[in-house]
Amino acid sequence: MLVVVTSITDHETFSDKAAHGCFFPASVYTQWYNTLMDMSAPIEEAKGVGPKTAEAFRQVNIRTLGDLLYCLPRVYENYQTAVPIADLRPGKAVVRGKISNLQATRTKRRNLTITEGTISDETGSIRTVWFNQPYRAKQFDPNREYYFSGKYEYKNGRYVLTAPSAQLAVDANAGESTGFQPIYSQKSAIKPEVFRKIINGLRDRFADIPDLLPFGEKIPAYIGPGARAEALYRSHFPESPEDAELGRQYLAYEEIFELILAAKLNKLENQRLKAMPIEFHRDFIQTIVGSLPFRLTNAQRQATWEILQDIGGDMPMNRLLQGDVGSGKTVVSAIAAAEATMNGYQTALLAPTAILATQHFESFVKLFSALQSKNHGLKLPRIALLTGATRAKDELKQQIEQGEIDLVIGTHALLTDNTHFKNLALCIIDEQHRFGVGQRQKLLLKSPEGTAPHLLSMTATPIPRSLQLTVFGDLDVSLLNELPPGRQPISTKILPELQQTDQLYPEMRKILAKKQQIYWICQAIEENNRNTVTSVKKQLTKIAQLFPEARVEMLHGRMSADDKDDVMDRFSRGQIDILVSTTVVEVGVDVPNANMIIIQDAENYGLAQLHQLRGRVGRGDQPASCFLLTTSEKPSRRLREMEKSTDGFHLAEVDLKIRGPGEIYGAMQHGELNLQVANLTDTTVITAASRHAEAFAKHPEDMIQYKELATRIRKYQQLTTLN
Ligand code: ADP
Ligand code: MG
Repeated sequence: MLVVVTSITDHETFSDKAAHGCFFPASVYTQWYNTLMDMSAPIEEAKGVGPKTAEAFRQVNIRTLGDLLYCLPRVYENYQTAVPIADLRPGKAVVRGKISNLQATRTKRRNLTITEGTISDETGSIRTVWFNQPYRAKQFDPNREYYFSGKYEYKNGRYVLTAPSAQLAVDANAGESTGFQPIYSQKSAIKPEVFRKIINGLRDRFADIPDLLPFGEKIPAYIGPGARAEALYRSHFPESPEDAELGRQYLAYEEIFELILAAKLNKLENQRLKAMPIEFHRDFIQTIVGSLPFRLTNAQRQATWEILQDIGGDMPMNRLLQGDVGSGKTVVSAIAAAEATMNGYQTALLAPTAILATQHFESFVKLFSALQSKNHGLKLPRIALLTGATRAKDELKQQIEQGEIDLVIGTHALLTDNTHFKNLALCIIDEQHRFGVGQRQKLLLKSPEGTAPHLLSMTATPIPRSLQLTVFGDLDVSLLNELPPGRQPISTKILPELQQTDQLYPEMRKILAKKQQIYWICQAIEENNRNTVTSVKKQLTKIAQLFPEARVEMLHGRMSADDKDDVMDRFSRGQIDILVSTTVVEVGVDVPNANMIIIQDAENYGLAQLHQLRGRVGRGDQPASCFLLTTSEKPSRRLREMEKSTDGFHLAEVDLKIRGPGEIYGAMQHGELNLQVANLTDTTVITAASRHAEAFAKHPEDMIQYKELATRIRKYQQLTTLN
C-alpha cells in the first residue's frame, strides 16, 4: 500500500516510512534485496525497449535507465474530477466518453491542421478540437471510452473542448484507485502511452534505485536514505497531487544541489590557476576618471573598484558585470583595459557581432584619444579591430603576437587558432550569453602558458537574484543598478495593428520631421506558408510606399556580413531614416539619434527580448517611444508589463514569474542546460540545497565515493566553466 503523506515535517517523512519498510507496494519489495539498479545501464535493459525504440530515445539523448527515470511527467491529470457532459462549465474540464466524427482539415491561410470530433456520454455531446496534432484523427477507437482533459471554452460562436489530453479509460484506471494520472510529453517518435508502459515495466525495480546525494547533518529529512527512490516513484506513480509534489520537492533539491556543487567545484578549480596581477595605479585611475566627458555613476565607481581589486591579485578574476541596457558598462571595462595596458599587458574584448565590435572600437578610440589630448604622456592602449571583414588580418595578427597592440576588439575572428597574444592578461566578453562555453574557453586559452587571464563578462540581460545563485554560482557579480543621469524615459504603448494608420503613422511623421530615426522590427525575413507574422521584406515595401520621402532599408540575419555592416554603418551615420529589421539589432547597438522603435507582432517575443529591443532607443538626450503592435484583442501580461515599466530588473523578476525559470535559463544557455524540476521561487529548497552543496564542496576529495553524482554534475560543470 502506498503511504500518502500530505506534508513534510521534520519529524515524520516518507524516508522514515521507507526505513520502516512500508513505503513501496509489496510487489516492489519482492525485489528489495536484489542488487541496486545500475542507473548507467543502457535503456535496452528496460522491458519493452527494443533496438528501434532505443534508437528513438537516443535521438533525444536518453541513453540510460537513469535518463529514462528522470523523464518526469509533464503534468498530472486528475480523472476523478470528470463530470457528466450535461454539467460542464467553461474552464478546465475533464469528461469521460466516446469520440466520433473525427476529421482533420487544413486551413489555407495559416496552414494549420485542425482535428475535430464529437465527444459523447449518456448526458450529452460536445465538440472538441486540436491544432496541429494530425495524429489525433487516427488515435481513437470509436467504441471505447476515454478521459479527455482540456479547456472548455467559447470559440468562434460555440463551445468546444480545446486541445484535451486523452487517455483510454480502462488504462487510466488500471490498478489505480485514485484516477490521478501522470501525463508524459511526446519524446522523439515515442508516444506518451508507450512511454508510460515502459516506465510501468520498471515499476517493480524502483526500490532498487540507489541513493545519489551525500547525507550529512542538517539536511532536510526528505533527503535521507531511500528518498530518491521514493521521490521518483511518487513522481511516476502518484496517488494524489500531494504525493507528486513531495516527489518533485526532492528532485528539485537534487537538481539545485548538483548545479551549485558544480559551480563551487568550478570556482575551486579556477582558483588554482595563476593569473598575472594587474597592479592598481591610483593616480593613473584618478586621472582617467577625472578626464572622462561625464561623471561616473556611483554604481560604475563601485563596479570599477571591485574589478580593479580583483585583477590586482594572482587568482584569475571571474566576474560578471551586470547592468541594464544603457547603464554604461563599456566605460567600466575600458578603465580596466587601460590599467592592464599601464601594467604592460594585453587585453582582448570579444563582441558577438561585427556591428557591435566596430561600435566598441570606435567608442574606445574616441574615449582614449580624448583622454590623451587632455593628458599628454598618459600611457593608453594601442587599439585594433579584428572582425571577419578586417583587411590585412595576417599583419594585424603579427602585431598582436609581438605585443605592438595593447587592446584588440573583435568578433569570433579573434578566436581562430592562429591568433596569438604576447601577454594576454585580461579578457572582456560583451553580451557573454551570446557565446558558447567552447568559444569563451578558446579565448581564455590565449594567455601565456601556465597562466589564466582575468575574465570580465558583461551582460545586459538582468538575472533575477534567485536565479543568480544557481546559474552563476561560480561568478562574482558587479551590478550597475542605476542609469546615468539625464536619460529621457521611453514611453511605451500597446497598439492594435488596426489602429496604426490613425495613431502610429502621424507619430512616425513627427519623428522623421525632426530628422530622427526609427527602427521597425519584424519577426520573419520573408513570408512563408508556415508563419503568419509580417516579414521584413513585405514591411519594407509597405513602409517605403507610405513614407516616400524617407530613406527606408532593411537588415536581417541572412544578409552577408559586409552588407549588414554597411547598412548599420549608414544607419548610425543618419543616412537611413527607417530601418526595417529582424532582431539582429537587438544586441548592444547604440544609435542615439534613433528615438522610436515599433515592434510588430509583439506578442511573439519574450519579455527579456522586448526589453532588449526597446533598449535600442532612448540612448540620446531626446524623448523616445516604443510601440508594441499586436493583433490580439486582449494584450498579454508581458505587453502590459512592458507598458508599465522600463526597469530591466523588475521585468526580469516578472518574467521569471510568468514563464518560470526553465525557459529563461534555457534561453540563456542556448537550451543546453534547462532546469527540469526546480522551481526557483521555492527559496527554502534553494537555501537548504545550497548550504548542503557548499558544505560538501569543502571536501571535493569525497566525490570519489559518489560516482553517479560526479558524472551527473560533470555535465553542468562543462556548461558553467568560466561562464
Ligand atoms: P551599456 O551598458 O548598454 O553597454 P554603454 O556602455 O553603451 O551602455 O553606455 C551607453 C551610453 O551612455 C554611452 O553613450 C556612454 O557614453 C554613456 N555613458 C556611460 N556612462 C555615463 C555616465 N556616467 N554619464 C553619462 N553618460 C554615460
Ligand atoms: Mg553594451
